[in-house]
Amino acid sequence: MAKNAMEIKNSIANEVDRLLPDMRQINRELFENPELCYEEVFATELTSGYLEKNGYSVTLKTSKLKTAFTAVSRGRRKGPNIAIIAEYDALPEIGHACGHSMIAASSCIAAVALKNAFRGHPGTITVIGTPAEEGGGGKIKMIKSGVFNDVDAAIMVHPSNKTRVVARMYAITDIEFTFTGKAAHAAAFPDRGVNALDAGVLFYNAVSCLRQQMKDEARVHGIFTHGGEAPNIIPEKAVLRFYIRALHVDYFEELKEKVINAARGAAKSTGCKLKVATKGLTYLPLYPNRVMGEAFRENIATLGITEGNFSETEEIGSSDIGNLSQVVPTLHPEYAIGGPHEVNHSRDFLKAVMSEKGEKGMIGMTKAMAMTVYDLLTDAKLMVRVKKSFAD
Ligand SMILES: [Zn+2]
Ligand SMILES: [Zn+2]
Repeated sequence: MAKNAMEIKNSIANEVDRLLPDMRQINRELFENPELCYEEVFATELTSGYLEKNGYSVTLKTSKLKTAFTAVSRGRRKGPNIAIIAEYDALPEIGHACGHSMIAASSCIAAVALKNAFRGHPGTITVIGTPAEEGGGGKIKMIKSGVFNDVDAAIMVHPSNKTRVVARMYAITDIEFTFTGKAAHAAAFPDRGVNALDAGVLFYNAVSCLRQQMKDEARVHGIFTHGGEAPNIIPEKAVLRFYIRALHVDYFEELKEKVINAARGAAKSTGCKLKVATKGLTYLPLYPNRVMGEAFRENIATLGITEGNFSETEEIGSSDIGNLSQVVPTLHPEYAIGGPHEVNHSRDFLKAVMSEKGEKGMIGMTKAMAMTVYDLLTDAKLMVRVKKSFAD
């Protein structure tokens, strides 16, 4: 690396340290004011306001979403447009137990540190505030409306129970299965009834059998949301909801069909009617950009951050960042904010989000993210490799 580049990266990292009180405050304020899917009004005001105050040109309500925004810093020279993604939605009941308050804080501080320490940067730095990651698919709506059309690469860092730069994620869909039968007195006229609960039970068990023959890369899990009204009425309605996940789009589609067929079989064998309804938006699998991953790894090495020993597919979930990774080269590194047992969406994780160890992780990964954006803005050859790897 040229000496100059190293110096600029050092000053970017120093700037992140100098901005630590701001990062801490953004994390705390969001943590104390958790907002759900598409209701992140305070979070949008706080983060976009901070970016605007620090020289970014902010556009609110991007993609006609109340709580989406973009904040842009245009450089003096030509260069790529690098998006730093900010998530800020919380979970029902347990608030910021996925640590999106930290994601927003990291993304704001990385962007401002870059702008301050790298004056006259080439290309464009765009912070994109993406609402509703936890089930609402904010990024999917924003992709559809074209917000990412002129973005060359996208990055964000996510708190976790482990530090891992390159990981994959499952595609996921949420499907509701409604079986409709016929109510009748369960003792006097059982033969007049058509038992929808039986259809649901058969379906549930068919999925359990299917699970034995499923590829390792997939998950199917579900619940009953309705199973009847009273024991003396043959249930006329049973409703189940299943999540189906897989690492590859082809197998995901195949598996979806198999699960739906299991429901069809259960309906047929009981004489029930079946309605299949997909809820919400389908999240696609995350295909991480490994060239961006290499650049990120070089940066964490200079910061003394080490990765845990995990494969790309261990302990993974699903996110709408997957959809983004299908249209733009994307990196979504994770970092530990507690021990291996402090896992996302738990009460322990919630504590870790405001812990000293958590903060240390957040600082390091914010620096690494800003340094990687620096690489992408300035190293044209790297950007060519990133795009080639994306196309492959
Ligand atoms: Zn989450
Ligand atoms: Zn999350």
